[in-house]
Amino acid sequence: MSAYSTHHQHIEVLPREQRVAFLTCHDKVRLVTEALAPLGFYVDAISSYDTDHFGTFSREVERRGSAHDTALEKARLACSLGGARYGLGSEGSFGRDPHLGWMPWDYEILCLWDDHLQYPIFAVAGSGATNYAQAEVDSLQAADAFMQRVRFPEHALILGRPAEPWFRKGVRDPDWLREQLQWLLARQPKVWLETDMRAHLNPLRQGVIREAAEQLAKHLKSCCPSCQAPGFVVVRSEPGLLCSSCGLSTPLATAHIRECPACRHQERSTVTRLANPGNCEHCNP
Ligand SMILES: [Zn+2]
Ligand SMILES: [Zn+2]
Repeated sequence: MSAYSTHHQHIEVLPREQRVAFLTCHDKVRLVTEALAPLGFYVDAISSYDTDHFGTFSREVERRGSAHDTALEKARLACSLGGARYGLGSEGSFGRDPHLGWMPWDYEILCLWDDHLQYPIFAVAGSGATNYAQAEVDSLQAADAFMQRVRFPEHALILGRPAEPWFRKGVRDPDWLREQLQWLLARQPKVWLETDMRAHLNPLRQGVIREAAEQLAKHLKSCCPSCQAPGFVVVRSEPGLLCSSCGLSTPLATAHIRECPACRHQERSTVTRLANPGNCEHCNP
């Protein structure tokens, strides 16, 4: 009996001691190893390829596809560069929070590509715990306030814009930065500062990547009842769960649809309980 067989009947098809090639320049291997090692995956960094070709946060290189597409492209490239059955790609993106829509939000995507069965498994983690920010400062005081807000120097900064001669990424030395700012602000009214979001310089992002890896491990433990491939997870939910008080439908999920990313087999499971009136638009408008 495997360790997971109580929850997942088909776990024995998961490979043992399989190598995963991870395309990363930014020291992310340690962030995913803990989650993937118990499943028998050994993560091996492929650092010979400059992932900045896929786009940079600081916009010297624009990302061409969506974050999902980019993660998949990286995972497939990792397979071919690393000569491994499994390839891992990671991509972060920063947008607005899904609740109120005005807080900065960090989305971290991991994609595991199985080159043998030719299909991807995606995992996503999102968090409002991000220091993603930009500012145009006109004084040392304003710069200091920004540095404090974005947790510099624990998190690195970028000085200037890509086209400016003083553009510098990965700034971690407060004395050096203040000296540069003093010199620049004596010659021009404003200087651009922004957070360096590369994972190795951003501990907050590292935490969200760890969460995505845990999510990926969960997905890997759930196997398709039809073809036994790992990654059989909920791909969408149908709203309309009935209210326990008035009997009308609520925005809560009344059914979940699971789909196999390898053979596309689907299963629909209905939620058997009723919704709390607190979630009902009629009872609790
Ligand atoms: Zn399947
Ligand atoms: Zn109701």
